[in-house]
Amino acid sequence: MILVKNISKTYNNKKVVNKIDLNVKKGEIISITGPSGAGKTTLLNLISTLDSPDKNNDSIIKINDIDILSLNDKKLSKFRNTQIGFIFQFHELLPEFTALENVIIPAIIKGEKKDVSLKKAKTLLETLGLSNIINQFPSQLSGGEQQRVAVARALINNPKIIFADEPSGNLDSKSSDLLHKLFFDLREKLNITFIIVTHNKELSNMTDRKLNLVDGKWA
Ligand code: ADP
Repeated sequence: MILVKNISKTYNNKKVVNKIDLNVKKGEIISITGPSGAGKTTLLNLISTLDSPDKNNDSIIKINDIDILSLNDKKLSKFRNTQIGFIFQFHELLPEFTALENVIIPAIIKGEKKDVSLKKAKTLLETLGLSNIINQFPSQLSGGEQQRVAVARALINNPKIIFADEPSGNLDSKSSDLLHKLFFDLREKLNITFIIVTHNKELSNMTDRKLNLVDGKWA
């Protein structure tokens, strides 16, 4: 599903990500842990196509057999929009849009019709237990609700992979538990692959594989 070979990222002459290899199977849920500054977010951004690694002829990033490093910006944007879901620590919902509108944005970008997108988003929000808040704005929602709206937004285009960066970093323990269970439900029902950067021990202990990054290398 995901094949990464020999990727590095240098900032200010320092290899923040240092010759990393990674193999992830379809439907696997892996966690990346490690101290602050270890390079976790940088690595996640490289694998999830948000950022590019140092140029190196030996570097490979393949997702679903697609060679990411050979895609131009336009193809990469399309790939990201249709194949990948993102969940961040601070949900990044747009404050001037309702929950429902936030969820349909990736579908509209994809070119889906608005009525089709709205129907799908409503169903998704219902599935996530959010049918009563669809017309509320992010500021009117709890942290846990905001994060579940972000999950719905990540799911709207039926991604095969979800990348999450500290998804429960800003949540209380009850909302965190709910969110973590949701990830495993989604794997069960939709066979989605997850790569999650997290400091949360309960979450990392639940995952199929815990990888520890220290100074840009697997420890
Ligand atoms: P982690 O997620 O493990 O806390 P990060 O990947 O955020 O670590 O950061 C790793 C190191 O790379 C840090 O020293 C950070 O300051 C540096 N870094 C991250 N992004 C940039 C950037 N855009 N420019 C310069 N340095 C950066």
